[in-house]
Amino acid sequence: MRLIDGQRLVVLSGAGLSKASGIPTFRDADGLWEQHRLEEVATPQAWRRDPDLVRRFYDERRMNALSALPNPAHEALVRLQHALGRRRVTLITQNVDGLLEKAGAIEVLAMHGSLWGVRCERDEAHPHLQIAGVQSPGARCSVCGAPLRPDIVWFGEQPQAVDRVTEALERCDVFLSVGTSGLVYPAAGFALAARARGAVTIEVNPEPSGGAFDEVIAKPAEEALPCLVADWLGEASALCP
Ligand SMILES: [Zn+2]
Repeated sequence: MRLIDGQRLVVLSGAGLSKASGIPTFRDADGLWEQHRLEEVATPQAWRRDPDLVRRFYDERRMNALSALPNPAHEALVRLQHALGRRRVTLITQNVDGLLEKAGAIEVLAMHGSLWGVRCERDEAHPHLQIAGVQSPGARCSVCGAPLRPDIVWFGEQPQAVDRVTEALERCDVFLSVGTSGLVYPAAGFALAARARGAVTIEVNPEPSGGAFDEVIAKPAEEALPCLVADWLGEASALCP
């Protein structure tokens, strides 16, 4: 399918996008980190109960992500956004690893926040800071003096950039879900919303979810996306069937 002039795309990506970059998902294997379930370290309650544990969890994830490199799937999405512009290609991700940005994306809506930021635990409007290494336990908000917490959207918290995401879905012609379960929130809702608006919906996932998709490409993201993007841009590629 070649994209028609002016068509707008929304791409929602999840853990499957970064798998080939070696980012562990904590959903694989036993899903545990040091005997803790993800739900025990990724909540505001966990932060209140044991901030050292939560900080250590995100420090470890940040240090793992530090040396990770974008894979061909990130690169294909970034190429698409550069070719068509950020008004036509909205990149939404549930990933917190920053690999789309590292690959050179113009703009990414990171719904679940970022490993590369910390913010005031009391007020989200206070300054957000970038962080590249481990988080100092004593770091405080420069405005109110409250402790800084990872800039991650925890279970039970409102995703970031919801207005922008909603707006993009309302005007998209193609919705692509990559490496995220199309049956659970938010991908399931996004696909339904895009389809209700008349958009074509496509899923890239080695284990298709059975969600509301018109087309399913049952391959890993790093295999499927370079070809899909070449096809959309009307390029011939020796790598693609
Ligand atoms: Zn503050």
